[in-house]
Amino acid sequence: MPFDFQGKHVTVAGLGVSGVPAAKVLHGLGARVTVVNDGDDKRARAQAADLEALGVTVRLGDGATLPEGTELIVTAPGWKPDKPLFTAAHEAGVPVWGDVELAWRLRGRDGREAAPWLAVTGTNGKTTTVQMLASILKAAGLRTAAVGNIGVSLLDAVTGDEEYDVLAVELSSYQLHWAPSLRAHSAVVLNLAPDHLDWHGSMEAYAADKGRIYEGNRVACVYNVADKATEDLVREADVEEGCRAVGFTLGSPAPSQLGVVDGILVDRAFVEDRQKNAQELAEVTDVDPPAPHNIANALAAAGLARAFGVSAAAVRDGLRAFTPDAHRIAHVADVDGVAYVDDSKATNTHAAEASLAAYESIVWIAGGLAKGATFDELVTGAAKRLRGAVLIGADRALIREALARHAPEVPVVDLDRTDTGAMLQAVREAQRLARPGDTVLLAPACASMDMFTNYNKRGDAFAEAVRELGA
Ligand code: ADP
Repeated sequence: MPFDFQGKHVTVAGLGVSGVPAAKVLHGLGARVTVVNDGDDKRARAQAADLEALGVTVRLGDGATLPEGTELIVTAPGWKPDKPLFTAAHEAGVPVWGDVELAWRLRGRDGREAAPWLAVTGTNGKTTTVQMLASILKAAGLRTAAVGNIGVSLLDAVTGDEEYDVLAVELSSYQLHWAPSLRAHSAVVLNLAPDHLDWHGSMEAYAADKGRIYEGNRVACVYNVADKATEDLVREADVEEGCRAVGFTLGSPAPSQLGVVDGILVDRAFVEDRQKNAQELAEVTDVDPPAPHNIANALAAAGLARAFGVSAAAVRDGLRAFTPDAHRIAHVADVDGVAYVDDSKATNTHAAEASLAAYESIVWIAGGLAKGATFDELVTGAAKRLRGAVLIGADRALIREALARHAPEVPVVDLDRTDTGAMLQAVREAQRLARPGDTVLLAPACASMDMFTNYNKRGDAFAEAVRELGA
């Protein structure tokens, strides 16, 4: 039975990326919508005016009080569960849905067949994996889209005019927290490292929210053999009868796994007689870039596609057709035999660890806002690959101290400036430290907002500086 919104008092918590479209859709379904928002700035007022013109009530500057008569809250995913609004909702027995839950409930409303979801979460690699998956599904001739953080929004995908056979869905831990009834066809948790712990309260709570992605899976729960925590989540999940646990590994695959043998991606899960047989899917060199963590992403995407019945040839064609988004291990240029690589998207230590593992001899440009992270493990793991390091940004001392403790022989340049010319100087210093055959790698392990508007701008500044070197 689809949920009946007609005449229902629905409170939308938070204007913005998910709130405004949610309010519009709910209003269109006949709900009596009130939007509450903490902020009361110029942008919020403009959005409010737009919604009020439709007949939606908007309350700015007070996101804490539960509006009288609320029967359902639809919240922006980022709102923390311990907010007074949710405590009040809990006491009043009012359900709380996030944007994903709303989209899930709206599937197939207008009599159309609801497209199944192949869902992806993890601390790092979500966007890349979802895009690889969509590329594979397209190569198989399926009508699909990568939805979530990128491309089409979930709400548009389920309520828009475009029809899909299957959706490749990226889900964050926040979104999963607020999506109690989501049931994917198949899903993967790529990896689990501490992140957003201030929001979730603890590593256990973070893992539990990620693990929700496996609840009710019908065909396959795909996990990372190298990350036991992801396998534990599969074991704890309540799935449909017959749903399988399928691992992916960079090593040789056991039965019910996908893995790598002699440079070939192989499937030993979705084949007949998996004790004896394996199906070749693609070559490692079909994956761009062929860095270990990215091969892992490709195997995860292949696992979900194969669970959906896609052919081996489509996996290969889809991976070949895939090009990574900007600032994710993007090769900018070679200058004097040194490669310059932009992984500005490596905004935490787990991501930086993956990109540092992909090169043999590195001049590392790092630093920014550490968000409470420590760098000892990262530096210890990378020490023997480091030709040198150039440190930028507010929390660079944390990295400098970790380097002094674990890699004292590595030359370090500490840049004490945050102006717009800082990146050019960082790249020049890196050039000075590099030898032919080395890689100068921007993998900051930190957020960018101390010096740049976002990680895109940081990556752009790096690329611009590299171009000046070559000029
Ligand atoms: P997300 O959507 O989860 O933020 P992205 O695909 O945008 O992930 O990749 C973000 C960064 O994480 C990349 O720039 C890369 O440094 C790193 N990364 C990508 N895949 C992985 C992985 N499987 N394991 C660890 N780090 C990864």
